[in-house]
Amino acid sequence: VTALCIALDTIHLRDGRTCDICIHDADLVTFRCHQICQGSCNEGFIRVAVSAFLTQLNPTLEEVADVKTAVSEAVTNCIVHAYEGKKEKILVSCHIEGHALYLEIKDHGCGIPDIKKAMEPLFTTKPDEERSGMGFAFMEAFMDDVRVESEPGHGTTVFMRKEIGWSRPLH
Ligand code: ATP
Ligand code: MG
Repeated sequence: VTALCIALDTIHLRDGRTCDICIHDADLVTFRCHQICQGSCNEGFIRVAVSAFLTQLNPTLEEVADVKTAVSEAVTNCIVHAYEGKKEKILVSCHIEGHALYLEIKDHGCGIPDIKKAMEPLFTTKPDEERSGMGFAFMEAFMDDVRVESEPGHGTTVFMRKEIGWSRPLH
C-alpha cells in the first residue's frame, strides 16, 4: 500500500475541547489541536500522539524521551511566548522519511525578531517568569536538526528532524 486514507476523527478531550486527527496515508499524520492552553491535557496529548506515531520506527525509550522533550519545549514556547497564554491554535505535524522523524510545530503568534539570538543558550525575553532560556538548546541537544522560520507579527515554525536507530547495533 503506497497511500491509504485511514480516518478523519475527532477526539473529545477531558476539558471539552476537540482535536482532529487526520491520517493521510501510511507515512503521514497531521494533528490539528484546537485551543491548546497551558495546564490542559492538550499539550500532553500532543506529546503522546507524536510518541505513538514514532513507535513504527521502533525507537528506544531514550529516543522517545528526546522527542517528547523537544515537542514539549516547542509547544510551550508557542503557549508562553507566541500567544502569551491566550487560547489559539498550534499546528503540529510529523512525518517519517526513511529512519527519520520530521516534526513541524507552527504558531500564528507574535513571531521572533532575531532568531539567531533567540536560539542562543540562556537567552530569554522572560527572565522574570523563571524562564531559563534553554528551550531551543534542549531541542538542539535532543534532535538531529532544528530550524526556525519566523515572521514578526505573523508567527513561527520550528522544523525538527530526528534519526531513529542509527546509534544501535543491528543485533
Ligand atoms: P525556557 O524554554 O528555558 O523556559 P525560554 O522559552 O525563554 O526559556 P527558549 O525556549 O530557548 O527559552 O526561547 C528563547 C526565546 O525565543 C524566548 O524567550 C522567546 O523570546 C523566543 N521564542 C521562542 N519561541 C517562540 C515563539 N514560538 N514565538 C515567539 N517567540 C519565541
Ligand atoms: Mg522555551
